[in-house]
Formats: sequence, structure tokens, C-alpha cells
Amino acid sequence: MSALHTKCLIIGSGPAGYTAAIYASRSALSPILFEGLQPGGQLTTTTLIENFPGYPEGIDANELMASMRQQAVNLGADVRPGCISEIDLSSRPFKAVADGSLEIEADTVIIATGATAKYLGLPSESKFRGMGVSACATCDGFFYRGKDVAVVGGGDTACEEATYLASLCRKVYMIVRRNELRASKAMQSRVAATENIEVLWECNTQEVLGDQTGVTGVRLVRKDGETFDRKIDGFFLAIGHHPMSDMFKQWVETDENGYIVTDGRSSRTNVEGVFAAGDVQDPQYRQAIAAAGSGCRAALDAERYILSKK
Ligand code: NDP
Repeated sequence: MSALHTKCLIIGSGPAGYTAAIYASRSALSPILFEGLQPGGQLTTTTLIENFPGYPEGIDANELMASMRQQAVNLGADVRPGCISEIDLSSRPFKAVADGSLEIEADTVIIATGATAKYLGLPSESKFRGMGVSACATCDGFFYRGKDVAVVGGGDTACEEATYLASLCRKVYMIVRRNELRASKAMQSRVAATENIEVLWECNTQEVLGDQTGVTGVRLVRKDGETFDRKIDGFFLAIGHHPMSDMFKQWVETDENGYIVTDGRSSRTNVEGVFAAGDVQDPQYRQAIAAAGSGCRAALDAERYILSKK
């Protein structure tokens, strides 16, 4: 059976993937997009999005992603459910296999596979996900105005999220497993200077407490084995993200944390014809609007690349 050929294969269906599909369609690249295991991406794990421009009343995250998908389809993108199970970026056209059987040849590939937030892995944490447990303070912090919350982690993200939450919430506990923060000195100083942040040193989370209304508290265990509870309404994870780049690492350069390295402000990777967009190449901003912008850049870069080869 001959392989399906496309000028542009897009892998991933968050804001980066769908925006790349919108732009690539309008550039007549007839893109094929594979949605992956979580159609709509990370955003679909949250509820109301209040910071995506154009929606003054906010928009339901699933509705937003469904609209982006529909826009891509309306413009001609071939959006398919399923996963790229194999890929070979060693020669052009690039070769991929979808769902173990469909062979694809692609002149360009846009990697928009995103990242997943790391969770502690506690059953109580999964139980209250979306009901007080969140891995994105920028997305969900607003709902905890005037309330007490906890942030787990001691890196730059945790410090940034704690200081952001402190501007909205009454009290922010930082749950830090060591007796020092991993974060940069500047971020440590910001935390120390914020009156309503209390760092709970050498503490680990034993259980997220809650009832039918959602999170009501957290049970912590100190290094010496003592357990104690704190009343909170929101429990924020900031213990890092894992970029979904493993499949491409054999060819595509990644940094020490696995994020795909792109060339300057472009989406170009070290492999000519392969572009990366969204959270898989962005350890810093991790916002839907930033990912959408980067998907746009990737499609424009892919178009320019194809034109340069004519
Ligand atoms: P990091 O890996 O830097 O920090 C993760 C934090 O979570 C550490 O304090 C770690 O503890 C803690 N942690 C990890 N696993 C657990 C666990 N199971 N239980 C409890 N605590 C845990 O991730 P970040 O997301 O903070 O940062 C990622 C990268 O992005 C870094 O290079 C950072 O500098 C950068 N960044 C930069 C920003 C900026 O410049 N404005 C903003 C945000 C991120 P421990 O220290 O004990 O390992």
C-alpha cells in the first residue's frame, strides 16, 4: 500500500497544533493533523478560560478548543483522531506511521505535542483535579480570590505561581520538600518579601482533603514524621512539566529538560523541514495564547521552507 503524502504533517492538537493547521491550510499546504491521546491538549483539563483574548466573558476550555478545531477543518485541514506511533526524521520526505498502520510521507513536520504537568500521584489529588487541584495558577488562580491556597514545589515556577497567587489570595502556603528552594535568588527574594506567603519547609503532601464541594485542606508530613493539616481551598502543583518530545529526540535537539530547541525566534529545529511549536519547545510561558502564536510561526516557517525548495 502506498503511503499517504502531505506537504505538512502536524502532530498535536492543542492551541499550537490547531493554529498551525489553520495557517497551513490557508497557505495551501493541505496539512494533516493527528490529534493524539488528548484532543484539544492540556487546556481541556481546565474549565473556564478567562485570559484568551476575544472572549470578554471567558470561554469554556473545551468549547474554545472545539472552535479552533472546527476553524482548521473549515479551512481545509485534514484533522484526524489518533496518534503518530512511529516517526523517521532521518531523510526527506519524512516518514511516519499513524496508529501502527497508516503510513505517511511528509515534506514538513510541525511538532506540537505539548507538555504534561507533573503531579504527585496521590489518589486524593486525582479525585479533586478540577475541583481545587490545579497545575496552572495563571489559569485558575483567579477563582481563589480572597481564599487560602497551597503551592507544591520550590523551583522558579512554584515561586512565580506563589507570588502571583499571593496577589489574589489571603494566604499562600508553599510546600517545599527540602530546606531550601531550587529557584533563582531573585525569585527566592520575591517569595521572602511577600508577607502572605508562608513556606512550609521539609514537608511532603500525604493527602489532599476535601468533600463534595472540592478541596478543603491538605495533610502534610514533616521530615521528622509529624503530620499536620492546613485548611486550603486550592492546591496547586508546580513541580515541573514534562515536554512530550521523547519520540523525536533521536533527530531533534532538546535541552537538558527535554524541551525542543528552536532557532532564535523561529520554530526551526536542527532538522531542516521540522518545526516545533507550543509547550514542547517553551519551558517559560506555557500559555494557550503563546502556543497559538507559536503554531502560527511554525506554519509560516513551513510554508517558507517549502517555497525555498521549489
Ligand atoms: P524545577 O524542576 O526547576 O523545580 C521543580 C520543583 O519541584 C523543585 O523545587 C523540586 O524539588 C520540586 N519537586 C519535584 N518533584 C517533587 C515531588 N514529587 N514532591 C515535592 N516537590 C517536588 O521546575 P520549574 O517548573 O520550577 O522550572 C523549570 C525550568 O523553567 C527551570 O529551569 C526554571 O528555572 C525555568 N523557569 C524560569 C522562569 C523564569 O525565569 N521566570 C519561570 C518558571 C520556570 P527539589 O528542589 O527538591 O528537587
